[in-house]
Amino acid sequence: MRVLFRAFALGCCLWLSVASACAAGPVVTVDATLTQLKLGAQLQALDDPSGALDLAAVQRAGNFKPVGASGLKIGFSHSAWWVRVTLRNTEARDRALFLREAYPLMDAITLWSPQADGSWQAVRTGDRLPFASRPYAHHEFLFPITLPAGATRTWYLRFASGGPVDITLSLYDPPTLFAALGAEQLVFGAYFGGFLVLVLYNLFICLVVRDKVFFWYLGYAISYGLYFSVFTGLSFQYLWPSHPTWANESVLVLIGSTVALGLQFTRQFLETAKTAPRLDRIALLLQVFGAAGSVGAFFLPYSALIQVLAVLTILATAMIITFGTLGLVEGYRPARWFMFAWAFLLIGVVMTNMKNYGLLPHNLLTQNGFQIGSLCEMVLLSLGLASRVSEMERQGRTDALTRVFNRRFFDERAAAEFERAERSGEPMSLLVADIDHFKRFNDSHGHARGDEVLRAVARTLREGVRSQDLVCRYGGEEFAIILPGTDARQAVAVAEALRRAIASGRATPGKPVDTRAAAGTAVTISVGVASTDDGAAFSGIKELFHAADMALYEAKAAGRNRVLRWKGRAIPA
Ligand code: GH3
Ligand code: MG
Ligand code: MG
Repeated sequence: MRVLFRAFALGCCLWLSVASACAAGPVVTVDATLTQLKLGAQLQALDDPSGALDLAAVQRAGNFKPVGASGLKIGFSHSAWWVRVTLRNTEARDRALFLREAYPLMDAITLWSPQADGSWQAVRTGDRLPFASRPYAHHEFLFPITLPAGATRTWYLRFASGGPVDITLSLYDPPTLFAALGAEQLVFGAYFGGFLVLVLYNLFICLVVRDKVFFWYLGYAISYGLYFSVFTGLSFQYLWPSHPTWANESVLVLIGSTVALGLQFTRQFLETAKTAPRLDRIALLLQVFGAAGSVGAFFLPYSALIQVLAVLTILATAMIITFGTLGLVEGYRPARWFMFAWAFLLIGVVMTNMKNYGLLPHNLLTQNGFQIGSLCEMVLLSLGLASRVSEMERQGRTDALTRVFNRRFFDERAAAEFERAERSGEPMSLLVADIDHFKRFNDSHGHARGDEVLRAVARTLREGVRSQDLVCRYGGEEFAIILPGTDARQAVAVAEALRRAIASGRATPGKPVDTRAAAGTAVTISVGVASTDDGAAFSGIKELFHAADMALYEAKAAGRNRVLRWKGRAIPA
């Protein structure tokens, strides 16, 4: 009986001691296999709303709460947050380890380490203190700790921040940490190197093209890249290590300027003042808020302003996506690149968030999703700029109504083709085509229907020639067609084929019968043909054009709907 009682008592003691160990929190076993451990469920946290507790009071406090496996993402909080972690060394050697806090923008972090004599040693750092306050010169926070052989020790950390309080602690053994840091720095190097190349590349193009959209792109990219360097803590380490106040303000300044410049770039790129004037004005208002936020960073309270800017960023993003979608709907070609670029950024952001919530595995891609997405965004926007330049060039030489080349293009190109024909000795021909009695058609069917006819005639002409032939709208209802490498006989055949195609009613929009019935005639054209092998030595493209025009005049006089070749008479001056 006594034996049984003793066994029961022993059992109770054991159970109690286990229970009390549980009450002190989970214990991380440090053995030979431990190389790297993300701390989540191994932590306990205490909310100190007044921020006034000291270590002794916190040690006495009984209200530490367990932390979930995904860590402690508190968000904006005025409290001080205490976290403790208990480590047990099961080995017969002392272990040197690192505690790593990965959120570089934490205002204040203090680590209390237990000493051999029972006292506590505190390390105070955070991005409100000069960079030199850090035990190791690294953009995140690295704390070296020592766990004596066979010992169980508890470490306390205190966090406080005007921005979000994101506690992402992990435990590393030194060789694993150094390998991880090396790889991470390489990724940062690639990322910022990519940004630098983009900025320089577009700077050169900006100097050549002198389009102000490039300028806004540059502003956006520089602001964005700098924001990332601040967000990752790298600019504090390398650019302004002894200016912690600016290190904090710069976050706000750069969020504000990135929003303002991003919107400005979008508005210029998609020409939203023309396509969506009302939304454009709202976007301008958001831009003003962004700029005001940048300025306010220097005198408004950080914690209030950062929350306003977070909302502004979401609104600006929604605005940008809306503009891009409108551009897509309108069929504006560069809008495709634009939306493609933003899709990459958003995918990156979603990927990183899904990783944070444990929905995607932790790997190089998901961990750097935001960065990779933003770099892809910038590359694609740069390609979009190139596409925009070629789109503008295309528009500059295209006739808006008929989509064939315009008069400006004809003037440039015809002269060049004439010179080439002279140099190579190959012939070149010119057709000048004019719609017959078009004024009459307009008068009886209306101008809108006349426009349809012009489009249809242009399409028929374009479809009726070879790909190297150039159909241009010379003016009103007159078209000039450059036929390189074509002699007079071939040119007449081409012109005759075109005339017939149009007279057959193919160029008449709607039901051809309608126009015949209403106008009493189908739409027809008269064509004048002149060729460099017509016997006369044309001194230039002007003379060749004049010859074709005279032939056209004769075709009109001879009754219209016909092709006439220039007959080699002298050209009046
Ligand atoms: P002809 O057979 O002698 O060429 O007679 P025409 O009526 O075609 O020639 P005219 O030069 O007297 O008139 C050209 C007409 O073309 C006048 C104008 O209303 C019409 N026109 C010119 N540009 C456009 C345009 O962009 N759209 C429409 N609908 N009509 C146009
Ligand atoms: Mg006409
Ligand atoms: Mg005319």
